[in-house]
Amino acid sequence: MYFTYERPAFDVNDPGEIQRVIREAYENGLENAQLSVEDGSGKAADYIPELAKAKADEFGLCVKANDGGMICHGETKKRFTIQSISKVINLAVSLKYFGFRETFSYVQMEPSGDDFNSIIKLDMVSNLPFNPMINAGAIQVMSLLSENFEFEELLDFARKLCMDDDIVLNEAVYRSESRTGDRNRAIAYILKSKGILQGDPDKTLDMYFKMCSLSVNAESLAGLGLVLANNGQNPFTGKHFIHRGYIRTIRSLMYTCGLYNESGKYAVLVGIPSKSGVGGGITACVPGRWGIGTFGPALNKKGNSIGGIAALQHMSHMLHLNTFD
Ligand code: GLU
Repeated sequence: MYFTYERPAFDVNDPGEIQRVIREAYENGLENAQLSVEDGSGKAADYIPELAKAKADEFGLCVKANDGGMICHGETKKRFTIQSISKVINLAVSLKYFGFRETFSYVQMEPSGDDFNSIIKLDMVSNLPFNPMINAGAIQVMSLLSENFEFEELLDFARKLCMDDDIVLNEAVYRSESRTGDRNRAIAYILKSKGILQGDPDKTLDMYFKMCSLSVNAESLAGLGLVLANNGQNPFTGKHFIHRGYIRTIRSLMYTCGLYNESGKYAVLVGIPSKSGVGGGITACVPGRWGIGTFGPALNKKGNSIGGIAALQHMSHMLHLNTFD
C-alpha cells in the first residue's frame, strides 16, 4: 500500500502541475483500492452490518481551495457515513462551548497505539481515555455534549463545518450501529463505572451512533478539511466557527491520532493532519491552503481507507505537503 519513488523536479505551485498531480493521486487511489479488493487485503467494514454493503473498489478524491477552486475525480458525490470523522466535529463543539480546560479534564491528548475501539488501556492503564479520536475518548466527549445539545444542533454544526446543508442522518446505518454497538456500550459503561462519563450512558451512545451515521460525501469532507485549514473560518462566507487556538488543538490531535494506530506511519509518509472513518472517508487539511476529502471503502487491517492513503501520500510527496517538508 505504501510506496516510494523519486520526486521529479517541477514547479509545485504551477496550477497545471497541481491539476496533474491531483489526477495522478486519484488514479493511484483507485488502483490501490481495486488491487486490494482483488488480492483480499482490502475490504469494506462489516462489523457494522450495514457498512458491508459498500462497493469496496470505488474511489473518489476532492480538493477544495480557499480561493473557491475545486478539483474532484471519481465518486465524490456518493453519500456514505462519516463514522469516526464525526469525532473531529464533536471535539470542535466541545472546545467551542466548554473550552480547552474542561474538555481535557475528561480525556487525554496521547496517541493510544491501540485499535480504535480498544478497551484494554481504559481499565488497566488510565481512567481517562487516551485521546478524543478513539472511541473511548469520543464517547467521553459526547457525554459532555449529549447533556447539553440536541442531535439537531450537532447536525447543524456538522453541516456548517462541512459547508454542506444536505448532510442528513442515515437511519439504516444508525439502526445497524445501535443494534450491534455492544463494544461501544461496554466502553461507555466502564467510563460510567469510573465516574468519568457525564450523564446517561445510553443517551450518550445514542447521540454518538447518530453522529457516526451522518451521510457525507468526499466533497463534504473536503469542506470540513478546508474550514480546518482556514483556522475555523468558512472562506466563502467569512463566518468564523471556532477559535483558531482550538483549531490548532484539533489539527494536532488529527496529526498524532487521526488514523487510529497507523497514525505514526501516516505522519511519516503523508504528514498532513487527517482523520479517517470506517465508512471509507478521510478528511485532510493543508493549513492555509486546501481541504481534501477522499472516499474509498476498501479498508486495511487498521481500519483506514487504502485508496485514501495512497492518494494522499501521492499528493503529499509530489507537492511537498508534509508538515515537515
Ligand atoms: N461508529 C464506529 C464505531 O464506533 C466508528 C468507528 C470508526 O470510524 O473508527 O465503531
